[in-house]
Amino acid sequence: MKKDYKRIFKIYLFILKRKIRKLKQLDFKKLFSDLNNLLEKDKEEEFVYNDSLVFYKNEFLRLSKKYNISEVELKGNHHEMDYDFMFNIFLSNEKLHKEFIDELFPSKKYYSSMNELVDDGFDIQYFFYAKEEKNIESIYDARSICVKRKSDDKIFVGYILPTTSTNIVYEDYFFISNSVYAYYYNTKTIELGGKAESNIVDILKYMESNDISDLHFQLLDEYSYYFTARFGQEIIRITNAPINKEYVDKIYNQALIKIGKDSLSNPPEVSGLLKERLLSKSGKLTDRTFRFHSMFDNKGQYQGRAVSIRKLMNYEEISNLGLNGLNYNKKAIQLLNKASSNSHGIILITGKTNSGKSTLLYCILSSLYDEGRRIKSIESPIEVVAPFSQVDLTRTEDAEEKYKMTREIAVSALLRQDPDVVLLQEIRSKAEVEEFVELGLKGHLAYSTAHTGSVQETILRVLKSSPDQKVLKETLKLIVTQELIGKKCQSCKGVINKESKCEVCNDLGVKGLLPVYEIAYFKDLGSLDITDMKKVVKSNAVEYISKKDIAREYKALDLIADKDYIRIMTYEKDLRE
Ligand SMILES: [Zn+2]
Repeated sequence: MKKDYKRIFKIYLFILKRKIRKLKQLDFKKLFSDLNNLLEKDKEEEFVYNDSLVFYKNEFLRLSKKYNISEVELKGNHHEMDYDFMFNIFLSNEKLHKEFIDELFPSKKYYSSMNELVDDGFDIQYFFYAKEEKNIESIYDARSICVKRKSDDKIFVGYILPTTSTNIVYEDYFFISNSVYAYYYNTKTIELGGKAESNIVDILKYMESNDISDLHFQLLDEYSYYFTARFGQEIIRITNAPINKEYVDKIYNQALIKIGKDSLSNPPEVSGLLKERLLSKSGKLTDRTFRFHSMFDNKGQYQGRAVSIRKLMNYEEISNLGLNGLNYNKKAIQLLNKASSNSHGIILITGKTNSGKSTLLYCILSSLYDEGRRIKSIESPIEVVAPFSQVDLTRTEDAEEKYKMTREIAVSALLRQDPDVVLLQEIRSKAEVEEFVELGLKGHLAYSTAHTGSVQETILRVLKSSPDQKVLKETLKLIVTQELIGKKCQSCKGVINKESKCEVCNDLGVKGLLPVYEIAYFKDLGSLDITDMKKVVKSNAVEYISKKDIAREYKALDLIADKDYIRIMTYEKDLRE
């Protein structure tokens, strides 16, 4: 028991020492000697452990019932202790949290705001905290701060949760709200995986070096946020502690300046591209583009912003991978290449946001570029910087009317340059769809993307804006509709439990993504009615792959989870059936 007691202090000291370089203004000598004195002092005193533990355990269980706390974790026999338990609660409702603590520890003070701490004479410059340490189970998830009282330099420890460490570590302790903790946690630095991050470029560096494709800031309460990251299909919370709202505001404003938006206007929704030259995991300098998106968000009565940052693949990475590297099967690659070999016509790549449309598109264009075809693209904005000619419509977005490069102007200018291959990024409006079909008709091979979810839906959508079936049948070469699903971790095969930990996928069960696609390559449509694609497919006028075909293929190779397989087999259509 004594051993653990001492160990926890050593851990605190260790964490504190690591912070020295960052927080030079603190009187660490004094803090060390205070803590060491405390250690010495506590050695001499007999600590009645079991009695208080039993008491708190019973009290805690009673109160957790009363306050309807859903997550409670009780642990026995860890760290050679006779009996230990750990509370794992998270109360985002501060009023309830305060009531709970007040009742459990009536003699201890609860600070719900920074001002209350300052009013009580605490030095806000003076703090350290214990954070999640992988190998140190005893303070796992401990949310604590250490502050100094100005009047007598006495050190106090503040906890956000009632844990046994409150008894063990410090006599002079108090409880704090989430918001107070968030303030301490992020006033100087923010910890993401142990590394200090303080601005938007650091965030981007962090994403690059940790292979994180998506980072989200989610509103936790009035004062704080938490961060989640996407690994494959899974969204994982990566910050253990709440993140101070002021910090998130700072990052948001920096991002706005970087994407060239007015940081004072506070629009309800903002999006743009963040471009940065970063050191990759393999130590290579990489030009990286991130898609930044932010919008007003509410959580209960709290208001803030939801922020998401998505890392995009760059041209070099996409063209190096090729269609094989993007996991398309032989037949799909054959159909995609067949469509690309046409001198004119239209090719549509469709799917929801983040379904890998751009990646597939640039993969095709890079091979056409390598063949020596002349490519022109009109994009808004340019997500993947390519070696061929790209017009970025967002560049003149804020220009005076007469200097504005509109989509219409860009298309007619582009036609005069007579390229072989044209990319019109994302067709939405009637005019855009018409323009696109027109390009295919006028002797260009035209590519575009849309948000539709199936081959049939895409055709109906195009016909709505460009209703001449004859024209469409003449120009239409290929439609791909796709989504991305998580690839089963090939090391653990998705079997995760307490006994078997997986280092390869970090216990997620999935590692990487796989495309699931429906492809229709149109041969000779003749007099067929394309509003009924089932008939068309059956008549052999198209070469066809369904999402079910792909799911079956993955299932046979044990590459996808059962739940994904069942979903696709249940909800996706196969036009041959
Ligand atoms: Zn695994």
